[in-house]
Amino acid sequence: MEPSISDLQIESQVHELLDFPVCTNQISSAIYCSNTREVIIDKKKPYNCPYSGSKCTVTGDIQWLLQHLMNDHQVEMHDGRCFSHRYVHHNPKHLHHATWMLTLLDFYGRQFCLYFEAFHLKKTPMYIAFMQFMGDEEEATSFSYTLEVNGNGRKMTWQGVPRSIRDSHKTVRDSQDGLIITRKLALFFSGDNNNSKELKLKISGRVWREH
Ligand SMILES: [Zn+2]
Repeated sequence: MEPSISDLQIESQVHELLDFPVCTNQISSAIYCSNTREVIIDKKKPYNCPYSGSKCTVTGDIQWLLQHLMNDHQVEMHDGRCFSHRYVHHNPKHLHHATWMLTLLDFYGRQFCLYFEAFHLKKTPMYIAFMQFMGDEEEATSFSYTLEVNGNGRKMTWQGVPRSIRDSHKTVRDSQDGLIITRKLALFFSGDNNNSKELKLKISGRVWREH
């Protein structure tokens, strides 16, 4: 699904609404400073928009990106403590690379992006579902999540650690750090009266913070 707003409009907002001057002093000093200093500077660096449906060049801090995702990409926010989504496609055999609408999940004021994508691993058609944390890498490792696909008497569970949105969704997909289902298996999950071979995957899960 494409957002109703065009890429051009989104790009023009970058110039209108965002102003992140590049501080050359800070960047060059990072090279000579200790690791701690580099981490501090890195945290100040704006994040790229994590939307996966179209190329978007918006950058900003997390609060700004949340507003942008909901207002400009029509992404919905759900409760990350317990969620369930259905991913449907009427003709999965003709689907090569595709991303479904991103879902935002909230867990006590921290947000996560839930991705679902179709891709080919060598020549095998696959689906992958994974989560990314809207924040830095360090904090991301303090969370865990599960994703479970369930249907037609079959069940598969993935437990993972969300990657920071500093990594692009493409990087995470290509590293296969998520729940991976081959298309053939996905069709078993889609139901026994599935003569039309439609994709109907129900994926549920939850996020928690490790102690
Ligand atoms: Zn965007």
